[in-house]
Parts: sequence; structure tokens; C-alpha cells
Amino acid sequence: MSWQHRITQALAQRRAADGWRQRHITEENHTRSLTLAGKRYRHFSSNDYLGLSQHPAVIAGWQRGADIAGAGAGASSHVTGFNRLHADLEAQLADWLGYSRALLFISGFAANQAVIHLLAEKNDRILADKLAHASLLDAASHSPAQLRRFSHNDSHSLATRLAVPCEGETLVVTEGIFSMDGDSAPLRDIADQTRRAEGWLLVDDAHGIGVVGEQGRGSCWQQAVKPELLVVTFGKAFGVSGAALLCDDAIADYFLQFSRHLIYSTAMPPAQACALQAALQQIQQGDALRQRLYANIQRFRAGAASLPWKLMQSESAIQPLIVGGNAEAMALSKTLADAGCWVSAIRPPTVPPGTARLRITLTAAHTPEDIDLLLEALHDAAGR
Ligand SMILES: *Cc1c(COP(=O)(O)O)cnc(C)c1O
Repeated sequence: MSWQHRITQALAQRRAADGWRQRHITEENHTRSLTLAGKRYRHFSSNDYLGLSQHPAVIAGWQRGADIAGAGAGASSHVTGFNRLHADLEAQLADWLGYSRALLFISGFAANQAVIHLLAEKNDRILADKLAHASLLDAASHSPAQLRRFSHNDSHSLATRLAVPCEGETLVVTEGIFSMDGDSAPLRDIADQTRRAEGWLLVDDAHGIGVVGEQGRGSCWQQAVKPELLVVTFGKAFGVSGAALLCDDAIADYFLQFSRHLIYSTAMPPAQACALQAALQQIQQGDALRQRLYANIQRFRAGAASLPWKLMQSESAIQPLIVGGNAEAMALSKTLADAGCWVSAIRPPTVPPGTARLRITLTAAHTPEDIDLLLEALHDAAGR
């Protein structure tokens, strides 16, 4: 089979399965509204949960950072790319989340790859929630360690796997709030079991940080758990981009000495670190934003309970509506778009086969009228 043949065949299969993925050029994307091809929609597919991507203080932070330090870092952190703006942000994050250290990465994907790549060695094992993010599962399956997945949010399933003896070290991997289901991990149980088995816990809290817990400190804080390794990302509630690993001094030093993702990659632009400091401040003072988000979630769930599709058991900003087939999910997404609501359909392989869904995301920027408009469009679609 030639390269050409392999590629043509994969593309044909993707099309035939109604799985074709397409990017859209957004002409305007302001958290609660979106303009595509000249048409304006209410926007229900954004991870910008607090609307900070459009916040004047965050935008001003980025501009101020660029005035101070220019457009880019110019080198990896280990060479000359590490600026006072990065150092201050790391210190603020560590202090906020109660860790001795924070290390910045250019993305959550990179951070997860880096953590697993560096820690997992031969004879070790990684026990990961079945629905963990692609960046975690990919890294784990490419690592020399053995990967075993446990049933989603099921600490008994984890216990069964932990009971099997292992020659090397054990890393348990889960998320705070799951990206496609919107549900929360039982972190307390998972952390207790992991500790008893003398393993370490890695929690990716991409969707919890900024949104839940006192001052938006995330899922771990909310459940009073302190994993050895906490990854937080800045592309969602922070409204920017990037990520950080929270850990103790020895782990941070180990990464600075040996993590190839940190050593051989250009540092995040210092201006971005400055924007992130501004976003962090908004998050710390963001109780009003979080209250608005939670009021929207409650309003949506109350109105959606009678819809014919399965609404997932989720208290988070992620409110998936399970439709089933790919074509049906695409058709519903199209019907909603015709009614002025933009909601992306999520299909396999991102979610298990037969569970194609509308991944509705709510934000603090939505008004109660926005939520009502979406509910009306959904009930109209259901009535057809
Ligand atoms: C979005 C996401 C990531 C990737 O983060 P980026 O900063 O967008 O690369 C990692 N893990 C989870 C759970 C996510 O939802």
C-alpha cells in the first residue's frame, strides 16, 4: 500500500462514516456570539467559560506585556526565553493553588505529553480513566510503561487494577471535569486508593480550573485533594492559551533538568504570561462570573429535562445531549444553526461509537435570553 493509497482510503472512510471534520473561518467570536459566512449565531461551543478571552483587563495585559517584552520569547526558557513575566506568573499560580512550584508549558497537550513522557519508564504502569483526554492516552500508549484503562469515574475498577502487583511505579491519571461528558471525577476516592498503593496521581483539570472551587481553584481544591501532579490549562476559563504543571520542588527540578518538551521548545511569549496574570486576577475575583455561569447551567438543565435526547448528568458548563448516530447529530446541529444557535456535534472517535452528541457549552457571558433561545430551538427541533 502506498502513502497515496493509505491517505485516500482513510479520507474516503471518514467521509462515508459521516465523520468528516471541518474548520470554519469565524469572522467574529465573542464568547456568546459568533459570525460565520456573514451570519451571526448565539454561540454554545466555546470553552471560554468566564468570557475572559474578551475581557478588557486580559487584553490590556497582553498589550502591556508586548510593550514590555515584545512579541515573542526568542528562545527556550533554558537559553534566554524565561522572563520576569513568566517567573511572576509561575509564582502566582503556585501560591494560588497551594503548591511549591508551577512550570509553564505552551499548551495543555504539550504539558500532558511532557509529564507522561518524562515519568513513565519500562516496568511502570499507567492506570488511566477510560475517557481521559487524547493528550493523556496518546502519551501513555506511546510510553514504555504499561497502559491500563479503568472504567470511567469508577474507583472500584481502579481498585481492581491497583490490586495487581507491579514491578515499577504506578501513575494514576484522571481529569477533574471530563471534556466530553461534563461530569466530575471522584477525586477523593481515587487519591486515597492511589496513595494506599504508593502510586502518584496526575489530575488534568482543564475544565475545572477557574470554574469550580473557592476562588476558581478547580476540582482538586473543591474536593480537598492534592495530587502529586496537577495540570491546569489556560485555553478554557483563562480565555488565553498555555498550561502549567503544579508540583513540589524536586519534581519541578526533575522537569527542568530532563523534560525535553521544556528544554527544546520556545518559551511561551512573555506577553501571554502577562495576559495570564491578568486573567488569573479576574478568576480570583470572579465569584460574580461563576454565579452567572451557574445560573445559566441551572436554567438550561431545567428547560432541557423534557427533551427527547439524553441529557448527561452534568453540573458543569459542559452539557452534552446524546443523539446517537453521526448523521442525526449533524442534522440536529444544522437545524439549530438554522435557528441561529451554533452548537458543534461531537462524533467518534472523539466519543464512543453510537454516542454522537451535541456538546453544548454555557458561559458566564450568556444572558438568560440566550439560554431561552437555545431551549426554544431545541424544543422546536424535537417537535419536528
Ligand atoms: C483542552 C484539553 C487539553 C488540551 O489543552 P490545550 O491547552 O488546548 O492544548 C488537555 N486536557 C483536557 C482534558 C482538555 O480538555
